[in-house]
Amino acid sequence: MKILKFGGTSVGSVENLYKVKEILTSDQENKIVVCSAMSGVTDQLVRLVENIKFNDTEAITRNLHRLENKHSDVIDALIQDQQIRDNLKDGLSSMITEMFEISSQNYSEVVNSRIITYGETILTYIFSGFLNSVEIPNVVLDAKEFMHVDAVENPNIDKVSKKLTKILEDNIQSSLYITQGFVCRDEQGQISHLKRGGSDYTATIIGAALQASEVQIWTDIDGLHNNDPRYVDGTYPIAHLTYNEAAELAYFGAKILHPQTVSPVVDKDIPVLLKNTFEPEATGTVISNKTYKKGLKAISAKDGITAIKIKSNRMLMAHGYLRRIFEVFDHFQTSIDMITTSEIAISLTIDNTNNLDKIVKEIENYAEVTIEQEHSIICIVGESVINDKNSYRLFEILNYIPVRMVSYGGSNNNISILVDTKDKIPTLRFLNEKLFRIQKEEVVV
Ligand code: ADP
Ligand code: ASP
Ligand code: MG
Repeated sequence: MKILKFGGTSVGSVENLYKVKEILTSDQENKIVVCSAMSGVTDQLVRLVENIKFNDTEAITRNLHRLENKHSDVIDALIQDQQIRDNLKDGLSSMITEMFEISSQNYSEVVNSRIITYGETILTYIFSGFLNSVEIPNVVLDAKEFMHVDAVENPNIDKVSKKLTKILEDNIQSSLYITQGFVCRDEQGQISHLKRGGSDYTATIIGAALQASEVQIWTDIDGLHNNDPRYVDGTYPIAHLTYNEAAELAYFGAKILHPQTVSPVVDKDIPVLLKNTFEPEATGTVISNKTYKKGLKAISAKDGITAIKIKSNRMLMAHGYLRRIFEVFDHFQTSIDMITTSEIAISLTIDNTNNLDKIVKEIENYAEVTIEQEHSIICIVGESVINDKNSYRLFEILNYIPVRMVSYGGSNNNISILVDTKDKIPTLRFLNEKLFRIQKEEVVV
């Protein structure tokens, strides 16, 4: 069994849905297809939730009509058979009625999750109908029936495995299954979601639960690039990455992968392939446990970082001081990304500021605290990157851009710096020149 995930752009238009169909029919292997919502739809649903929060019935109605029209147009353009078309539109309209009903309830986390995951539910329903209409038999698997994720960082793979195996046994006649990414149930069995971009994670959770032969993530670019192509020209795809490298890059901002994507498959040694829906013949990136090349591979950047400086003379020569500080972060369930210390001060970064006020209040009992927001962590990643003879060039950035923190040696595979977010793009471009362009020229010479 292979798992294939198609992202928002891949399922984002009638033309692209035809491309997905071609990919699915290019071989005979059994497949589970994980679909995102059409691009832009989840953003629209997030806005709908805002309307619900403010009880703005006019905006809710407008939003839901727009959603219905968009998908209804897709049905018209995709499906030739009038009967199938009418049936699909009836189903769509029932889903929109359900959404009206949910939108009339008071805002809660569950209302939020139920609404924002509808994009996937609607799309899988339409896509399955389309495949049936062109005589490609398939079965839709309702992800809410098997995707149990106690907490986002902690999927219950055994439970997913048991439930999904049973569902597949009940539908043994099929070789093509379609399911929704992003949606899950939490520990209490309530509808929840895997955070934005979470369909990648759905695919690897399913891959691990079924011990799949591989997980393919189909998107709008030919693999994971050596730098962020949204900000830097001339980036190129990396053919092979180890799980560690991919995990670091995803966690530190490479948008192509949800931060948690590789964690479910590492122990099971299931390869993850990143492929381009619009250029299926391109090699893409293979993520596995094999190291083909050591040293620097890629740069990524993670925004939304808050730096916290904690300063106290009492720290001088005092043991147990760091423990006290870490306990505060632990107590407020806030994880720390970067950390540097001097004799009387410690600087650290967090990305979850939900409990920042409480953390500061607690630490201010014994130290002076300074907060700086809107920072970005830029990291260079590769197995043994700290031993790469070119890595020192990272530090030439110090001549041009104010660097707030440096983390070197925490891991052999990652060197990170913290900069103001307004300096992120110049930093990425500068490092691209220094670390990749110059390196390439050296090879040529
Ligand atoms: P999907 O909707 O298919 O999940 P995403 O938008 O989440 O697609 O991810 C693909 C996008 O990630 C690319 O179009 C690209 O702009 C962006 N991206 C950011 N960093 C990288 C990188 N290092 N390599 C490749 N793509 C990247
Ligand atoms: N549709 C969801 C999002 O836009 C999940 C995904 O596409 O992976 O975040
Ligand atoms: Mg994505």
